[in-house]
Amino acid sequence: PKIPDLSEVDTPPNLPTGTPMVQFDKVVKRFGDNVVLDHLDFSVEQGERVTLIGPSGSGKTTILRLLMTLERINDGVIYVEGQPLSHMDRGGKLVPANERYLSTVRKKIGMVFQQFNLFPNMKVLENVIEAPVHVLGVPKDEAVERAKKLLDLVGLADRVGQHPTSLSGGQQQRVAIARALAMQPDVLLLDEVTSALDPELVADVLNVLRDIARTTTITMLIVTHEMHFARDVSNRILMFDKGRIVEEGAPDKIFSEPENDRTQTFLRAVL
Ligand code: ADP
Repeated sequence: PKIPDLSEVDTPPNLPTGTPMVQFDKVVKRFGDNVVLDHLDFSVEQGERVTLIGPSGSGKTTILRLLMTLERINDGVIYVEGQPLSHMDRGGKLVPANERYLSTVRKKIGMVFQQFNLFPNMKVLENVIEAPVHVLGVPKDEAVERAKKLLDLVGLADRVGQHPTSLSGGQQQRVAIARALAMQPDVLLLDEVTSALDPELVADVLNVLRDIARTTTITMLIVTHEMHFARDVSNRILMFDKGRIVEEGAPDKIFSEPENDRTQTFLRAVL
């Protein structure tokens, strides 16, 4: 594809509605000699909930990290709402868009990690208002009001004044979800958000995410080993193996009648 020179572009152009929320176009990602994503093509439409499944090491987390611009691609193009994250410079070398451009794109994306990464020295409410106030410039009273609504949504309205360390892992993860939503992102990336939790704390976190999926139109890109959850919330499942999509489809089809051998083997092992 013809990508414009982005080196002097600070503000990504507005794009018409109907543009995919996320698009990977022949994306190659290597770590040394290890080809982690091998000419990967897929897109996620606005409002879709897409879950990435597949064996450990198949490249799922790398996809989310590339979208957050925490890693650089080696070839191809990634678009967020039609806006390319990189371009070829005059020497034909693939380079990222400039930092101001990328920070504008990043604001569209919320991410929740396996490790909750809350600020331990800030109270719960402060964790949730920090980025809206300091990154988006939302007036503090407005940010507080919105944060309280979000903490209510995740079932933690009574914990606003506590420090994260006094909460359970599941509660901390629910704060992290509220914090991501406080930025009003267009797309929410969920990277194995229950993997670090004790088993009895997993259900509360998944139920909060089910509620968000049911009551909002936010686009979700999910990496999870919780197959029942994936089946409940997803419109589409992408099955990865060795950096490629080996099968994709509606959850009912993938979980009930997988066609690919590797999907069948993977699901037998995890279900
Ligand atoms: P998954 O999420 O499907 O388990 P990952 O995207 O985490 O897979 O990893 C895909 C591959 O990339 C693995 O082989 C992993 O070892 C490698 N990898 C991931 N991050 C790095 C890194 N920062 N440096 C080197 N190799 C990495």
